[in-house]
Amino acid sequence: MDTRTELNQMAAQFLRQLEERGESFLLLEDVNLADYPGTQVDELKTDIASGEAPAASVSGTRPGESLEEFGARIASCTGCILHESRTNFVFGAGDHGADMLFIGEGPGAEEDRQGLPFVGRSGQLLTKIIASIGFTREEIYIANMVKCRPPGNRDPRPDEISACNGHLLGQLDLIKPKVIVTLGRFSAGYFHGSPGAAMRDMRGQVGEFHGVKVVSTYHPAALLRNPNWKRGCWEDMLLARKVYDQEGGRTSRGEVYRPGG
Ligand code: SF4
Repeated sequence: MDTRTELNQMAAQFLRQLEERGESFLLLEDVNLADYPGTQVDELKTDIASGEAPAASVSGTRPGESLEEFGARIASCTGCILHESRTNFVFGAGDHGADMLFIGEGPGAEEDRQGLPFVGRSGQLLTKIIASIGFTREEIYIANMVKCRPPGNRDPRPDEISACNGHLLGQLDLIKPKVIVTLGRFSAGYFHGSPGAAMRDMRGQVGEFHGVKVVSTYHPAALLRNPNWKRGCWEDMLLARKVYDQEGGRTSRGEVYRPGG
């Protein structure tokens, strides 16, 4: 089985589990076919039932392609309906060879406006979170599961994730991180292979996604709404830093922030 087929089957499994768990925010039944003229939502349902997922609309990388070239090639992607309402395609930002990769869910309003990930209030908090374990934003890489803003900041839908899957996997292929830090329940569920699981069941666990260690924490937007979760986030980040060091992460000059230390 080639890598692409394997990854598509993983995506299919993820989508099928979502459906089985009856996740209200991602139910395929929520997809209004009238919103998708000429697209393959029915095919997606058929594919999921049969254990197959459609290939990404612009799938993966080309031999010898750099991350910058890959991003430029897919920047005009029309693989899902989200391209219709986007202002900017939001590929990602940071060190192209980073050993730590942060993955959120999708761009928000400010990200859509600027074409950069995590640049609003959530982004400012993420910068502090990253600094708490001794990194700058320039030393890590930040991206989202889908590259175009879901209208009204809703969660991305299964067909949108499937369409964008090749872009995310292409980034992983090219950056080759040692640790993935997921931001929010939805991203955590995907990378832990446990869609619909509660954050409390994924936090504190070190998962693995195609050989890359996975640590999960809250989405910064959730922390803004629930400041009492910040302590837990910091504990998650200490775990991420510990795993990073164990995995031989190359940037280790930064100081780990310890409250009262
Ligand atoms: Fe393409 Fe992803 Fe944007 Fe959809 S969200 S249009 S698949 S880049």
